[in-house]
Amino acid sequence: MAVLVYAEHDNSSIKGATLNTVAAAQAIGGDIHVLVAGSNCQAAAAAAAQIAGVSKVLVADNAAYTNQLAENVSLLVADLGKAYSHILAPATTNGKNFAPRVAALLDVAQISEITKVISADTFERPIYAGNAIATVQALDAIKVLTVRATGFDAVAATGGSAAVEAVATVTDAGTSKFVAEELAKSDRPELTAAKIVVSGGRGMGNGDNFKILYSLADKLGAAVGASRAAVDAGFVPNDMQVGQTGKIVAPQLYVAVGISGAIQHLAGMKDSKVIVAINKDPEAPIFQVADYGLVGDLFDLVPQLEKLV
Ligand SMILES: Cc1cc2nc3c(=O)[nH]c(=O)nc-3n(C[C@H](O)[C@H](O)[C@H](O)COP(=O)(O)OP(=O)(O)OC[C@H]3O[C@@H](n4cnc5c(N)ncnc54)[C@H](O)[C@@H]3O)c2cc1C
Repeated sequence: MAVLVYAEHDNSSIKGATLNTVAAAQAIGGDIHVLVAGSNCQAAAAAAAQIAGVSKVLVADNAAYTNQLAENVSLLVADLGKAYSHILAPATTNGKNFAPRVAALLDVAQISEITKVISADTFERPIYAGNAIATVQALDAIKVLTVRATGFDAVAATGGSAAVEAVATVTDAGTSKFVAEELAKSDRPELTAAKIVVSGGRGMGNGDNFKILYSLADKLGAAVGASRAAVDAGFVPNDMQVGQTGKIVAPQLYVAVGISGAIQHLAGMKDSKVIVAINKDPEAPIFQVADYGLVGDLFDLVPQLEKLV
C-alpha cells in the first residue's frame, strides 16, 4: 500500500498544509510519496524531499503545471494515482479545486475534509458546519481524500531524505489558461498557520476601525481574520474571512471582537485552543464557545487590552 500526497507549493517552497496532509498519510500507513507539480519547481521538490516520513518525491516540472490549473493537474494526479491505494490533497482552495476532478476521472467517491483517520478505509469528517461528525467508510479501490489541516499535527519539515524522481508524462488538457492574480500582501502571519488570530466582525463598524485590531495583532504576533458580515460590508478583503465559506483555523488563541458567533462563523474557529470574545451583548452566542469573555464596548476594551500586552 502506498499513499500519494499532493504538495501545496509556490514552486520554491512547500506550504504548511502539506505537512499536515503527510501526517494524515502517516496515520493511514504505508509508503508515502509526495507529488510536486509545477514549473521551475525543483526548489519545492528539494524541500519536499526533506519532509519527515516521505520516501519518494515525484516531480512533474512542466509549463503545463504553471499555476497548477485544476484541468491539467487532475489529469496528472488521476494518471499517477492509479498506482496508489490513497490520494491525499490538502483541503485548500487548490486541493478542493482539483481533487474532486481526480475522483471523477477515477470513478470513485471523494471524501472531503477528513479530520481523523480511523483506519485505512474509515475516516471522520465534519458535516453541518461542524455540528456533527460523520464516520465514513470508503469501499473504493482508490481513496481520494482531502485533508483538513487543523485536524492533524504537522510532521517535521526537515529530517527526511526522500528519493526524487522526475515524472515524464505531461497532461495538458488545453482547456484553460491562467490570466492574472491579485495577491493580498501582508507582513502578518498567514491566517491558517498563525498561533494567534484576532478577528473582527460587523461590530467594528467600518474598515478604518480595523486599525485597532491590526495594532493589537502586531503586538501579539497574530494574524487578523474577519466574519463574513465584515467582509460583505467591505471592511476587509474576503481572504480574511473565517468560517464555513472562508478559512478554517485552529490557533492557540482566537480573539473574536464584535462577532456574534453565528454557526457559520463558529465552523471556522471553534477548534481553537482558547477563545476570547469581546462583545457588548452578553447574550451573543459567541460567549457559549468562549473560554474568556469581556462584555463591553470593543472601542474601550481593545485599546485597554493592547496596553496590557
Ligand atoms: C451559507 C452561509 C455561509 C456563511 N459563511 C460564513 C462564514 O464563513 N463566516 C462567517 O463569519 N459568517 C458566515 N455566514 C454569515 C453568518 O451567518 C453571520 O451572518 C455572520 O457571521 C455575522 O457576522 P458578525 O458576527 O460579524 O455580525 P453580527 O451577527 O451582526 O454581529 C455583530 C456583533 O457585534 C457586536 N457589537 C456591535 N457593536 C459593538 C461594540 N461597539 N462593542 C462590542 N461589540 C459590538 C454585536 O453585539 C453583535 O454580537 C454564512 C452564512 C450563510 C447563510
